[in-house]
Amino acid sequence: MMTKVKNYITSLFLWELLKGLRLTGKHLFKRKITVQYPEEKTPQSHRFRGLHALRRYPNGEERCIACKLCEAVCPAVAITIESEPRDDGSRRTTRYDIDLTKCIFCGFCEESCPVDSIVETRIFEYHGEKRGDLLMTKPRLLEIGELAEKQIAEDRARDAFYR
Ligand code: SF4
Ligand code: SF4
Repeated sequence: MMTKVKNYITSLFLWELLKGLRLTGKHLFKRKITVQYPEEKTPQSHRFRGLHALRRYPNGEERCIACKLCEAVCPAVAITIESEPRDDGSRRTTRYDIDLTKCIFCGFCEESCPVDSIVETRIFEYHGEKRGDLLMTKPRLLEIGELAEKQIAEDRARDAFYR
């Protein structure tokens, strides 16, 4: 009975509405946190997992030794690698594809790589207009690696303790 009376009184005086307006009023003059993207950007973690890249050593040699650990660990089966030995006996990839339409950006590939070759960069502003645009081939991955190497190296150095 008491509950019914209480409900009647609160609905009569629009109590819920007043509660809502009080909350609105509380935030009305607070500092706004809307980010005006793309002019403004939110801070990014140095562990951000964006577009993939393949890295080279400072002497220009590819880091990847075609061990295929990244291909094996990828839960989305997004990586395809083919390899063959070079004349000097070292093994290198002849094909390294990542299908970004499958990738879930879990970071397992970079975690599994013994030579820090495949990495995920901070680049997130990219798009594709047809399926093939999101198929990252070895030359494209190496190109991204060259463009982003400075940032990648800095980010790896910050994580060196854990690696
Ligand atoms: S980030 Fe994850 S899903 Fe994407 S290629 Fe690497 S292992 Fe596969
Ligand atoms: S990118 Fe790393 S994990 Fe993948 S095949 Fe090359 S060396 Fe192995």
